[in-house]
Amino acid sequence: MNTQFSPFEESLWHATAIKAPLTSSLEEVIKTDICIVGGGYAGMSTALELAKDGISVILLEAKEPGFGGSGRNAGHCTPTFHYYSLTALRKVLGIERAKNLIQRQTSGANIAAEYIQKYQIDCEWRQNGYFEGALIKSRLSLLQKKAESYAEVGCPSILITSEQAKKLTGSDRFFGGWLLKSGGHLNPLSYARGMARAVLQEGGLIFTESKVDEVEQINNGWAVKTSKGKVIADKVIMCTGAYTDGGWKDLDKTFNIQKVFVAATNPMPKDVRRKVLPFDGTMHDGRGDICVYKYDGEGRLVVSMFPVGKRGRDLPYTKKMLLDRLRWLHAAIPEGTQWDYFWFGELDMQRHTIPRLYHLAPGVIGCTGLSGRGVPTGTMLGGILSDWVRGVRDQELALPLEKLSTVPAYMKIAPSLMLRWYGIRDHIAARLEGTELPPHA
Ligand SMILES: Cc1cc2nc3c(=O)[nH]c(=O)nc-3n(C[C@H](O)[C@H](O)[C@H](O)COP(=O)(O)OP(=O)(O)OC[C@H]3O[C@@H](n4cnc5c(N)ncnc54)[C@H](O)[C@@H]3O)c2cc1C
Repeated sequence: MNTQFSPFEESLWHATAIKAPLTSSLEEVIKTDICIVGGGYAGMSTALELAKDGISVILLEAKEPGFGGSGRNAGHCTPTFHYYSLTALRKVLGIERAKNLIQRQTSGANIAAEYIQKYQIDCEWRQNGYFEGALIKSRLSLLQKKAESYAEVGCPSILITSEQAKKLTGSDRFFGGWLLKSGGHLNPLSYARGMARAVLQEGGLIFTESKVDEVEQINNGWAVKTSKGKVIADKVIMCTGAYTDGGWKDLDKTFNIQKVFVAATNPMPKDVRRKVLPFDGTMHDGRGDICVYKYDGEGRLVVSMFPVGKRGRDLPYTKKMLLDRLRWLHAAIPEGTQWDYFWFGELDMQRHTIPRLYHLAPGVIGCTGLSGRGVPTGTMLGGILSDWVRGVRDQELALPLEKLSTVPAYMKIAPSLMLRWYGIRDHIAARLEGTELPPHA
């Protein structure tokens, strides 16, 4: 079991998020229809969907809402699949199930927008689009395919020219790129805390500092036990993600932990903001070894990358590398820019990269493996997991219910090998095209 999670308090969001609603720990025995374990987006969107419909629901969280990936991510809400093409997804899931999942995932940012609007969640929400650029010309054909495939399923998705990309992003480095207008970004911890408040508002109960140690079958349901209390429920949903700390045996073996780091600059002056990312959306530089960035509510540039080699391990090098990379993309970023915040977090990686639903026992399911698109995915999962509660047949669920299985051993090294390979591939393509490489690439 991995309980060596990165410190929660180091993130920008921890310093700037709205206050969490008042909650307490479980110190009694309570009966409910549904017990949810884990207060991340997946658990809370499910609690919200159920509570809204008058189903009695109790959510137990080991620490506080948003303690896991949901409170410390980079804040991009990009409603796409980051590994599978839509065609590949149809092959993996079958046409009907894929159609259902694609519809839900591509609506992820709109569902977030609805929650934010309905429950007045103050979380720096912007829905100005997601831009994935082409730093090498040959990448444009791939982006064109992506743009077309998402447009075919009804998304506001287009390929844009280098002039349009320059106007949108302020950078003249791109040969063009893919613009998905439905993409959004936010302060993730504020969103998580706002969701928790919404669950309470709809009549759901949340207990914090209430780590579930055991889920035990009893006569007509389940006893979900913490050190000081117990919830008796008809059905249980485990949504403990990368931050799984006990609760259900071997659920933490369904994924491997992949670290990610996020860094935030000092607030950019107004004149810089007019030139750098004037569209105030999510920016993906389009390299396989991804670098994604956006503004927070105070005008800080928030950038995330995967640690590879000394990147992430050697802090002074990493900070210099990040600034060199951003300033290469946007010359208007001042030379003396500081990194005010730098933090790590954990992803629950598994080879499918779409979330996995596990049938753990009659009346108990687990959902892990959201990988790196958890903001829209966790948000839309409430719809799928509440379908299961309402008795939608397994065949009709948007995700298959699988037997608990251990993540293949190669997943320990596969993500970092892939990143290295993508880096080499981009390197070779740039050399062949005679295109300048970003610094430290
Ligand atoms: C650094 C970083 C950057 C990321 N950037 C992005 C991004 O920009 N966009 C994006 O879409 N996704 C991003 N992600 C991924 C996204 O944050 C996650 O996929 C998503 O938040 C996972 O949500 P979840 O509900 O599955 O789990 P989590 O949010 O991890 O929640 C699980 C909760 O379960 C609780 N728990 C664990 N064990 C127990 C127990 N025994 N009893 C009770 N409670 C328990 C934990 O305390 C935790 O609060 C990023 C992740 C990280 C770490």
